[in-house]
Amino acid sequence: MKDDPATRAAHAGSSREGGSPSAAGIQLASFYLSEGDPSSLAYAYGRGGNPTWEALEGALGELEDARATSFASGLAACFATILALAETHPRLVLARDAYYGLRKQAEMLVARGVELVINDHADFAAVERELARGPSILWSESPTNPRLVVHDLRRLAAIAKRHGAPYVVDNTTATAALQRPLDLGASLVVTSLTKASSGHSDVILGSVTTRDERLHERVRAWRYNAGAIPGPFEAWIALRGLKTLPLRIERQSSNAFALAELLARHPKVAAVHYPALTARALAESQMSGGFGPLLSFEVEGGAQMADRVVAAARLIRPGTSFGGVESSWERRARWNGETAPPGLIRLSAGIESIRDLEADVLQALS
Ligand SMILES: *Cc1c(COP(=O)(O)O)cnc(C)c1O
Repeated sequence: MKDDPATRAAHAGSSREGGSPSAAGIQLASFYLSEGDPSSLAYAYGRGGNPTWEALEGALGELEDARATSFASGLAACFATILALAETHPRLVLARDAYYGLRKQAEMLVARGVELVINDHADFAAVERELARGPSILWSESPTNPRLVVHDLRRLAAIAKRHGAPYVVDNTTATAALQRPLDLGASLVVTSLTKASSGHSDVILGSVTTRDERLHERVRAWRYNAGAIPGPFEAWIALRGLKTLPLRIERQSSNAFALAELLARHPKVAAVHYPALTARALAESQMSGGFGPLLSFEVEGGAQMADRVVAAARLIRPGTSFGGVESSWERRARWNGETAPPGLIRLSAGIESIRDLEADVLQALS
């Protein structure tokens, strides 16, 4: 019998052999001693392989029953994925509310021959039309950052399949503990491990997972030749965080759900975006164990009021990024290039007691 993915991830990379270390080591070597033909060796040069990356990739692979490649950042993982696929599929059909950093990256790739189409992935006919125009990559994100839009991953995967388009899902907000897009038909999953997957706001890292050996090799070739490799220490930190991901995400999701309900009842809040409130049936059909740590809401009074609310928190930390054990929030549109409404606050629920979080949100809004 195969253990649950969470169980396997907790044990990944450790041996039961007597005398073996209880924790993965941090291998810092830039090269491994060799003479003659190096191709028979597991390790020769440090850009090609590292046992600490492999421990992390083993755990990521267990969570998704897939092969994983770790990268220096989430955006480095996106970059390698687009470049690997664009060789054969030069059109990128991207969801309109995908992470704005990825939209910026894609715009830079237009000058390098990538044809960029940004459209609404809830409009299946429009997606279908674009994929029919030529060999394309379909790229979704669900739930999206920062508006928490839930896309129908099964349906989009089926459309992509009909057109021979590799389907990539950015799984950063949900993480592999709550959603496994490869089970729903995705060809590749990219994740910014910087967020909830590592969970302690102390590392920038990314990954690509797939069950297609050929795609796995192509993505690896881009990591090796373009060089966006993770540092061994960062990989170790992320592995340590990943072991508690299922535990953390459960608490963070239940905190986020409770805060979303509290905000939805609040007279100063104009709108709340959280999958459990806005797209429950669809979210439940493709996620399990919770709806994630991230929510967003719009306050009456626009940008100015939102800034005041963020500044008034006693516990919730001001700042970007999300997914950490400490709750944090920010007014999203303060970032140049972000298309979120001016008064939208993105809130990342941590693992604190819900009573303290609710009290902090209420006092900040008052
Ligand atoms: C943060 C983020 C990224 C980029 O990850 P980095 O680790 O910051 O490079 C990509 N996608 C989503 C959805 C993100 O939130």
